[in-house]
Amino acid sequence: MVNKERILEEFLRLVKIDSPSLHERDIADYLIRKMNDMGLEVVEDEAGKSIGNISGRETGNIIATFRGNIPDAPTLLFSAHMDTVEPGRGVKPVIKDDTVYSDGTTILGSDDKAGIAAVLEVVQIIRDEKLPHGDIEIVFTVAEEGGLRGSKNLDRKRLKALYGFVLDCDGSAGTIITKAPSQYRIIASIVGKAAHAGISPEEGVNAIYVASTAISKMQLGRIDDETTTNIGVIQGGKATNIIPELVNIEGETRSIDPDKLEEQTSRIVKTLEDVAGEMGAKAMVKTELLYPRLKLEDSEKAVSLAVKAAEILGLKPKLVSTGGGSDANIFNGYGIPTVNLGIGMNKVHSTEEFIRIEDLVLNARYVLEIIKVASQVHV
Ligand code: ZN
Ligand code: CA
Repeated sequence: MVNKERILEEFLRLVKIDSPSLHERDIADYLIRKMNDMGLEVVEDEAGKSIGNISGRETGNIIATFRGNIPDAPTLLFSAHMDTVEPGRGVKPVIKDDTVYSDGTTILGSDDKAGIAAVLEVVQIIRDEKLPHGDIEIVFTVAEEGGLRGSKNLDRKRLKALYGFVLDCDGSAGTIITKAPSQYRIIASIVGKAAHAGISPEEGVNAIYVASTAISKMQLGRIDDETTTNIGVIQGGKATNIIPELVNIEGETRSIDPDKLEEQTSRIVKTLEDVAGEMGAKAMVKTELLYPRLKLEDSEKAVSLAVKAAEILGLKPKLVSTGGGSDANIFNGYGIPTVNLGIGMNKVHSTEEFIRIEDLVLNARYVLEIIKVASQVHV
């Protein structure tokens, strides 16, 4: 049974450990020690070297294996990220009305420490109650926020899991993300020609004018139910008396459908290049695929396990399509069908972030139920 006091205490301890992205050393050390003490096999991969931790205290992803006692049960992966957004230092959790908030000056960090707390609680329960289970792989990633860099640099060879469950989504337990888009970043420079705006404007090619003409011809926002596009950054120009020579533009396209993603991305690129060409400027455009999509059929085992476990707990399973990426996208790209699960966190990335204690408990019950269903020990 889930121990409410224990999971709450663990959650409070976790949120009090500062862990903004690229500063995860302290929480990683804590989790390594904790999971070693619980008898798990714990390793840290080399991701910290690739993602360039600025503080000189590189931290990789923590991968722990909880050996099972049912040889035939599938190996399951559970994952949450250790990092938080800012302001995330010196978090002072406040409990009011059976809900945990920050003191209002920082985020709380239930994104994603509520996920970590659930996994730790479940390991403890399984050990205490000597429950039958298959092998369980636990991955606590670094640098998820702002680029999924930890999971992208994960040592995939270390994982044997057949299905995965990322605990990193709003909506309470029973919310199951089965679709999330792939994303391209688009970075463009429009190069015109500088000239004095008052003396010889006819000698110039105004890069701001070229860029805005190109953007005005783009279809932006929601393209269809699977596809979105945004131009999010535009910078250029130096002074009013100079015809601007250079404009830098950054944008993105996302789609759950890979063909639409390619099509929409090349449309944006072509518009920039064509318009620049027509107006005597030059467009230098780079695109970068940031992460693969997540798209799982309802019949996929990761989905049906999550659904079944929710039903057993009397929760109404909700299969959801989202517009955002998560570590689950990366695990799917590694060939491990992985859903992202709701853990009841609210108003994340804001100082009003909160989570109900009831949801902390429910998350652990849910993870435990998934393990039980996978082990087919549930009666
Ligand atoms: Zn998160
Ligand atoms: Ca987040």
